Amino acid sequence: MKKISQLLIGSNNKGKLKEIKALLPKRIKIYSTSDFNIKSPVENGKTFEDNSIIKSKYFSKKTNLPCLADDSGLEIDILDKAPGIYSARWGGKNSDFNKAIKRVYKELDKKDKNWRKKKIKARFVCSLSISYLEKLIACVRGKVEGTISTEPKGNNGFGYDPIFIPKEKTLTFGEMSSKTKYKMDHRFNAFKKIKKFL
Ligand code: IMP
Repeated sequence: MKKISQLLIGSNNKGKLKEIKALLPKRIKIYSTSDFNIKSPVENGKTFEDNSIIKSKYFSKKTNLPCLADDSGLEIDILDKAPGIYSARWGGKNSDFNKAIKRVYKELDKKDKNWRKKKIKARFVCSLSISYLEKLIACVRGKVEGTISTEPKGNNGFGYDPIFIPKEKTLTFGEMSSKTKYKMDHRFNAFKKIKKFL
């Protein structure tokens, strides 16, 4: 298979862009959606995979470049896996991550007043896909298991990082350096599966 020499990263999220860029081989010329000034498509799929493929195909067709796109989110077991594919939407129109975190705590309080005394199982999920125009080249899923912190901790990262404690660790992603987080998270685990297609 011919190796990809240029690749568009189909995301308007700066946190993800930074992380995906750090994972890609140096031989690939990387473009981002801000080089083209393209808005994001409507993500109306029912799964992380659906939405990832919607994005990689959409951005590839807009630019004529092969595109790697991600769709990711946080699943909380006792909330029936919410926010899931709605993770970004819980932040409202302005993607306000504080608002999204408040909503998580509100929903947990509603579900079980004593949740703070229990281990609230959760995981980050990431679907990565590569498309070239209409053609899907690969689609994979990675995850990282963990629990929800009783309060937000740390200012690193983005999104739900301050409330997620990966399994067998004591710090939240928000308290870890980006270098440490990137080596164990859902995106990294998905990337390991997709890198043979690059
Ligand atoms: P997407 O851009 O539709 O895939 O939305 C993903 C959303 O899930 C982000 O806006 C974050 O709220 C959340 N999310 C995904 N990955 C991470 C992560 O690594 N850390 C924290 N939050 C994340």
